[in-house]
Amino acid sequence: MKPITSPNHLYPGLYDSHCHLFLLRKVGLDVRAVLRQWRADGLESLMNIALEPSEEDWNWHLDLLRECRNQPELYPKLLLAVGIHPNDADGSSGSRYVSAAVTGGSGPDGDAPEPGLELLARRAAMEEVQAIGETGLDYYRAEENKELQQKSLEFQIGLARQHRKVLVIHNRDSDEDIRDLLCRSENQLPAGGIMHCFSGNPALIDALLDKGFYFSFAGNVSYKNAENLRHAAGLVPAERLLIETDAPFLAPQPVRGQINHSGFIGHTMDVLARCHGMETETMLAQLRRNWQRLFPCLDLNDLD
Ligand SMILES: [Zn+2]
Ligand SMILES: [Zn+2]
Repeated sequence: MKPITSPNHLYPGLYDSHCHLFLLRKVGLDVRAVLRQWRADGLESLMNIALEPSEEDWNWHLDLLRECRNQPELYPKLLLAVGIHPNDADGSSGSRYVSAAVTGGSGPDGDAPEPGLELLARRAAMEEVQAIGETGLDYYRAEENKELQQKSLEFQIGLARQHRKVLVIHNRDSDEDIRDLLCRSENQLPAGGIMHCFSGNPALIDALLDKGFYFSFAGNVSYKNAENLRHAAGLVPAERLLIETDAPFLAPQPVRGQINHSGFIGHTMDVLARCHGMETETMLAQLRRNWQRLFPCLDLNDLD
């Protein structure tokens, strides 16, 4: 990823449904400073995806959240998600969360979970946490550990159900198994779910619309060769669309190759508006209504 050289492109009231603030910190950004700048440029809220299991990193996430809450005039409204990424499900990255998933720990409703999952379950229950994830399935990068990924996903579905929190799903080349798992009646999500960085087929959209899912699109929807993604974005009813960066990854077309961040998300919204033949203001208002519906705690201003 190249350094950031382009100016922010934001609209007042816009949000980012999926951003890895810890990874932005790791590539050298002053996270507090950029959050204040995005807020000044219009970003109203942001979902921070916390995948770092260590106590120290978790406390960094919590401190940041509390700081943002205490100074709403300076910072966007932060939401926090905690989970195990499917690519970490086998513990190869050394995740403290997943030792139990690997050795066959039980779910939140079963016998005492082993320590790794117990830690995740404790964090998932916290008032500061509004969503579980990103979890899901990724058969593109890891075909060989499908079973572990599925177990990890099922455990996190259990957490989302138990604590009535939104589930954030990562899906790559695994449409069929994702649909099978998420459409089971026992896996119904009381607080709903997000298909993040959506790249699935139209059949998956149909199946998950019925289950109340929202579909979040990232900067790759703007790439020149991404006709299929723009087609998918057009197929999702406007009232189920969300928008994200997945920063630091997937910077949108005009700034492609640079470190991505929430300040670039306006480029993605321009494309989503075109996919639905809408004016940008109309799309912005729709995206905000959807975000507010999924997270009533946000209390966004000026919604009609
Ligand atoms: Zn993802
Ligand atoms: Zn992500």
